[in-house]
Amino acid sequence: MSGGRWVEVTVKVAPEWTELVAAALHALGAGGTVILGRTAEEETTAAWATPPDEEPSGVRAYFPADDLLGERLDLLRARLAEARAEVDLPPVEIGLRPVEAAAWEEAWKAYYRPVRIGRVAVVPSWLAWQPEGEEVTIRLDPGLAFGTGTHPTTQQSLLLLQEALRPGDRVLDLGTGSGILAIAAAALGAGTVLGRDLDPVAVEVARANVAANGFEGRVRIEEGDLLAGLEEDFDLVLANLTAGLHLELLPCLPRRLAPGGRAVLAGIIAGRREEVMAAAEATGFETVKEIGAGEWVALLLKTDR
Ligand code: SAH
Repeated sequence: MSGGRWVEVTVKVAPEWTELVAAALHALGAGGTVILGRTAEEETTAAWATPPDEEPSGVRAYFPADDLLGERLDLLRARLAEARAEVDLPPVEIGLRPVEAAAWEEAWKAYYRPVRIGRVAVVPSWLAWQPEGEEVTIRLDPGLAFGTGTHPTTQQSLLLLQEALRPGDRVLDLGTGSGILAIAAAALGAGTVLGRDLDPVAVEVARANVAANGFEGRVRIEEGDLLAGLEEDFDLVLANLTAGLHLELLPCLPRRLAPGGRAVLAGIIAGRREEVMAAAEATGFETVKEIGAGEWVALLLKTDR
């Protein structure tokens, strides 16, 4: 990130609401969020170190100070008002502070720590790192696209990827965001990887991250809507999306999977688990494994062919 002005948005909420607020900020395009104070689930991979001074709990995100800012904040307020009605979220305080891009980067650096998910360590580029044993290191800095390894759905995807991947696999990563899953797949031994995203900013960010990890030879990133226009076959499809998108994706998925193909579907909100599983079964998939952490469920599927 270079140049320009940003706005630091801080939403003060009790620890049990930080995930909901972080999701709302992500949905508005925040590339990552900083959880302030204690988190509700300290035991989940402590990606954000708890800051030394006891600060009030909440969530912080950064947005460019551009024409969209007003609209983003209105949408945020609307989403939080909805949550108040739906799940009794107490009134929250939203603080705004203009920051320079340089300060924004420094703010990230104070909070962003390496995170280990199974054999994969996601490490910011500015830290020296000595991998342990079988560990695979990928370098990723917080940026404008979703996927720094700290979100539970990304972590679930990374765990199932490690379970499902076979050496040399042709992997498709739908909704690649920062490219984190595509890069991890390459680092873990995939033959070739195609990452796709609807968002041109994500495509740009993912390409830069692929290059920074030295995988341009094996990982290609393109703009695209789910499977639209794809004609090649894949051994493993990764999709950290939403339940609604999985339902759209599932009927078309078998056509793009080679015999013995597998799929990781993540980002399924717990309440829609049965619906997605039923759709998967109706399309001829078998659920090989399911992992869940509170709000989110992820499935590893296998074709019956
Ligand atoms: N794979 C990353 C990012 C997941 S966020 C991770 O696991 O952390 C989901 C991503 O899907 C976003 O980058 C969003 O832009 C993208 N997306 C949403 N709808 C899409 C669609 N119809 N086709 C392709 N990508 C889509």
